Amino acid sequence: MRKLIAGNWKMHGSLADNEALLSAITAGLPPAPGADVAVCVPAPYLAQVQALLHATPVAWGAQDVSAHERGAYTGEVSAAMLRDFGCRYVIVGHSERRQYHGETDEIVARKAQRALAAGITPIVCVGETEAQREHGDTELVVKRQLAAVIHAVGHCVTEIVVAYEPVWAIGTGRTATPEQAQAVHAVLRAQLRAAAPGERRVRILYGGSMNAANAAALLAQPDIDGGLIGSASLKAGDFLSIIAAA
Ligand code: PGA
Repeated sequence: MRKLIAGNWKMHGSLADNEALLSAITAGLPPAPGADVAVCVPAPYLAQVQALLHATPVAWGAQDVSAHERGAYTGEVSAAMLRDFGCRYVIVGHSERRQYHGETDEIVARKAQRALAAGITPIVCVGETEAQREHGDTELVVKRQLAAVIHAVGHCVTEIVVAYEPVWAIGTGRTATPEQAQAVHAVLRAQLRAAAPGERRVRILYGGSMNAANAAALLAQPDIDGGLIGSASLKAGDFLSIIAAA
């Protein structure tokens, strides 16, 4: 199956920086890249990114979506609005949203549902904190996080993308070893298979300090189907190297 390399720009960018970054990425890509490629950008830039990328092999998406369909939710952005700007993907349940914005497993599950209902693929993030890993709770935590989404979306689980992002590896330069990541991916794979037996394979991305130097070893693991890339997605050369490694 084709791997997916998705950039998560987080709260970085400007009109000028985005244009420079995306023109370098699109100029450096082969005409038919060996992996699916996407960038998840801050919402105000979706129109710009749509205009810059619509005729390229690079898809785009958002970093969050409202759990509500429409209405009096000041500051929220709905899945239908993301669809209007051509988003193929939306990240839901990133650990920064769980941590700083109080998003529970149930909220994340509703966001995934909203995305699917609008025809957008949710990239559902799961991952344990360092303390949870030290207590031996990694499996418990990631399975609980994914179970909430499976419960909410039912048979549509085959339409999601999962991203395993150990919180201790995000933005820290401390990548999970390929073996550590593979072990968790295998757990998630088994959970997905049990939820949708015989269905097509759900892509499980790894995220957390993936970079040009460590991408190939991570992406060679049998259950790692791509990457969710934060800081390395802001440098065209690094992002292109990760795509080439896939
Ligand atoms: P990082 O971020 O690659 O900078 O660690 C990944 C993410 O948070 O999605």
